[in-house]
Amino acid sequence: MAREAGASVLLLESAPREWRGGNSMHVRNLRCMHEAPQDVLVDAYPEEEFWQDLRKVTGGATDEKLARLVIRASSTCRDWMRRHGVHFQPSLGGTLHLSRTNAFFMGGGKALVNAYYRSAQDLGVKVRYNAPVDDIEVQQGHFMAAHIGGERIEARACVLAAGGFESNREWMREAWGQNERGEWPADNFLIRGTRFNQGVLLKAMMGQGADTIGDPSQSHCVAIDARAPLYDGGICTRVDAVSLGVMLNRQARRFYDEGEDFWPKRYAIWGRLVAQQPGQIGYCIIDSKAIGRFMPPVFPGVKAQTLPDLARQLGLDPSAFGQTLEDFNGACRVGTFDHTVLDDCHTEGLAPAKTHWARPIDTPPYYGYALRPGITFTYLGLKTNEHAAVHFAGRPSDNLFVAGEMMAGNVLGQGYTAGVGMSIGTAFGRIAGGQAARAALEGAAHETA
Ligand SMILES: Cc1cc2nc3c(=O)[nH]c(=O)nc-3n(C[C@H](O)[C@H](O)[C@H](O)COP(=O)(O)OP(=O)(O)OC[C@H]3O[C@@H](n4cnc5c(N)ncnc54)[C@H](O)[C@@H]3O)c2cc1C
Repeated sequence: MAREAGASVLLLESAPREWRGGNSMHVRNLRCMHEAPQDVLVDAYPEEEFWQDLRKVTGGATDEKLARLVIRASSTCRDWMRRHGVHFQPSLGGTLHLSRTNAFFMGGGKALVNAYYRSAQDLGVKVRYNAPVDDIEVQQGHFMAAHIGGERIEARACVLAAGGFESNREWMREAWGQNERGEWPADNFLIRGTRFNQGVLLKAMMGQGADTIGDPSQSHCVAIDARAPLYDGGICTRVDAVSLGVMLNRQARRFYDEGEDFWPKRYAIWGRLVAQQPGQIGYCIIDSKAIGRFMPPVFPGVKAQTLPDLARQLGLDPSAFGQTLEDFNGACRVGTFDHTVLDDCHTEGLAPAKTHWARPIDTPPYYGYALRPGITFTYLGLKTNEHAAVHFAGRPSDNLFVAGEMMAGNVLGQGYTAGVGMSIGTAFGRIAGGQAARAALEGAAHETA
């Protein structure tokens, strides 16, 4: 956006070329408002419905003005993305419920990032890899220069888009603290994306008095396969079977309604729920009726012909496990099972209840997945406005802007709905780029005068 508006642009990327693009290289889709069927999107997803979805998942912890700005921008950004080489595809059959709301990137985030880099290169954007910025020099809210080691890089304007602090395990440990069991929950977290979002610039800006928003312990946090690597496991480590079975903790007890709402609206609560359980581990248990109804994860589940054998293989107490499953199976009131609507299959007299898609787990083979909290991105960020300006003591900077995870907390105080990270990043990235160019060109005109 900045280059197209006539500014000369230098992109500083801390990662080497092969790891460029941070978490964006892991994405699959973008949530888009639309009033009628549009290219890859079916039906309509009007502004009001998008807003209500966002309001619900955030529990109202969102800035309505900025949220609506993102929602409206989401209706027009696909054309801009296409102009920069991004291709879209309809959602696949296995990705339930998303064909109306989310546009999928052909080739995923890696193809998206590569397309953007190719386009940026064609436009004449300069890129430096292995360039971790360690400080931002600001004078009275005005950006002066970025620092890398001893090097000082001046510019007339700057956009900060360096992600959250999710990859910084020390900071995560501090943010989550110690729980009542004496555990440090964050020690058991896995990071789904890049190792490069260390929060260095967030901390640097906080140190210089930039206004912040959000709670450091809030993040997008999904339950992922416990066998996933510490960083960059990506989307294939997610286990989307939770709403089709039961979730147990280490004591083989259920702890939350697995059928509360559609998976894309509720999948992001499970990481946090597992984080609150002893040992920060949960076990998703399904039977063969669930197979084929969720996206197959990269690691096969533990498989057994009997429930006691499954418990043993997962390291759970077989008698507690047996009791929980017996209670659950006995409480199921099966109506007409339909995973595409909030159906009438529910439990009765069970706490916690399973309010939809409740069917007895009784058809072998049985499968179990051990799950850990997988952090996608943190929500603590810099306070901003509709011009994407960084604020100092309530005053917007004239030439320092912010986009993406570094400001997502303005719209996402808590919770998540699939694809909104990219909606926020794309909307504010475009605004910030345009504003930075305006500030740079005005600065240049001023200097010439
Ligand atoms: C596995 C996974 C799947 C996801 N799927 C989706 C999805 O399908 N849809 C969706 O909407 N969202 C998804 N998200 C969230 C999405 O990735 C983010 O919302 C979005 O990519 C944020 O973009 P960003 O530019 O703020 O951060 P990033 O894309 O992470 O970019 C930050 C960049 O800053 C660089 N950097 C960090 N610190 C410094 C520094 N000090 N100096 C220089 N460079 C620095 C990093 O190397 C990185 O390149 C997913 C995230 C993950 C991890």
